[in-house]
Amino acid sequence: MSQSSERAQRYIDRVFETVEQRNPNEKEFHQAVKEIFHSLIPIFEKYPIYMEQNILERIVEPERMISFRIPWVDDEENIRVNRGFRVQFNSAIGPYKGGTRFHSTVNASIIKFLGFEQIFKNALTGQPIGGGKGGSDFDPKEKSNGEIMRFCQSFMNELAKHIGPNTDVPAGDIGVGAREIGYLFGQYKRLKGSYEAGVITGKGIHYGGSLVRKEATGYGLIYFVQEMLKDQGESLDGKTVVVSGSGNVSTYAMEKAIQLGAHVVGCSDSSGYIYDKNGIQLDTVKRIKEVERKRIKEYVKEHTNATYTPGFEGIWNIPCDIALPCSTQNELDEKSAKTLIHNGVQLIGEGANMPSTLRAITTFVENNILFAPAKAANAGGVAVSSLEMAQNSSKISWEFDKVEAQLQSIMQGIYQDCIEASEEYGKRGNLIIGANIAGFLKVADAMISQGVI
Ligand code: GLU
Repeated sequence: MSQSSERAQRYIDRVFETVEQRNPNEKEFHQAVKEIFHSLIPIFEKYPIYMEQNILERIVEPERMISFRIPWVDDEENIRVNRGFRVQFNSAIGPYKGGTRFHSTVNASIIKFLGFEQIFKNALTGQPIGGGKGGSDFDPKEKSNGEIMRFCQSFMNELAKHIGPNTDVPAGDIGVGAREIGYLFGQYKRLKGSYEAGVITGKGIHYGGSLVRKEATGYGLIYFVQEMLKDQGESLDGKTVVVSGSGNVSTYAMEKAIQLGAHVVGCSDSSGYIYDKNGIQLDTVKRIKEVERKRIKEYVKEHTNATYTPGFEGIWNIPCDIALPCSTQNELDEKSAKTLIHNGVQLIGEGANMPSTLRAITTFVENNILFAPAKAANAGGVAVSSLEMAQNSSKISWEFDKVEAQLQSIMQGIYQDCIEASEEYGKRGNLIIGANIAGFLKVADAMISQGVI
């Protein structure tokens, strides 16, 4: 090890220790920080300015973290209390921007890991958006429509004090879709007494939403995968694909993959997975999940050739060329990675945020599997959110084809930036290193230009 790389390593170790001390027991946040720190040694070796400016210690500390009480009344008239969060992580490039997650597992660690990833993801899109994230430990499963609405209104009663079209712009994530965005926006509008469409994204098309926003994360993931395959002289045509999850990201990743000729044979929800060797019938999945809001196991009642297996991890036992984890963090571990490799997988594309464990990632890299990391590959959602903000501020709505073409061009741009950064730092094709370095440099340079912030 050279002297400069030893110095860089010592710096990284010291800041990581501070992160562990300041954020005890926040293992998902530590994981996200560790993953990015690993990639940055070559930058600090080449440009010591980032160490002199102590950028790392600044970047891992949120600008602001809000935690609040959400009281609401359920259908039996019980008073219930949940905890809400918003992390306003970094505003060097633009207003804080990031989704809102309603899930029983939400806590400070989950929100901070998501907010931290969001900083670099948003920077990679090339759009003027900083990093933020929010949510609650509220579990929307089995709740009535009235309960969902009252909860969203109570959540917004507090959140409204901290957000705005030029300050912080939330959107959806797990458990927060078009219905919840509508209730959140409606309550914000009542509180403010003015129509500020750009305060939240993912809105319905009839009140300021953007075409393609619903499809954007899934479509963007497939556009990114398409670029990777193109570089190998290949395409999606005829490839066997497995996609975990059956929510928004997963559904539209399947849709675009099928449009491009792929054979999608499996998807899942948190209870189990389905395997349909004839190809997943997407209309059925959409009806079950988007309209009926039921479990994915309903699928096999209509398609008797398909099988349903309880336990969501089992989906990675299905042999495939391309695996797209689109469900949640740490859903793909080392054991599943080895199974996928054993069964001949060629490419992994992360649609969810941080779906692979650190050991799974190492296993893929060591076996030369093409790997698309989430912060690059799933950036299409937030990219189109930014296009929604642009339409809101100019009070114009763009056509479907125009937004889709921009999404594709943004994903191609992200791929190019990642490849170039991986090449410059001697790891051509390693998109993990490429994405981390390209995202980090954009944010770090903006921070340095703005003084000690
Ligand atoms: N929740 C999505 C993400 O993880 C989208 C965020 C947004 O549109 O602001 O990137």
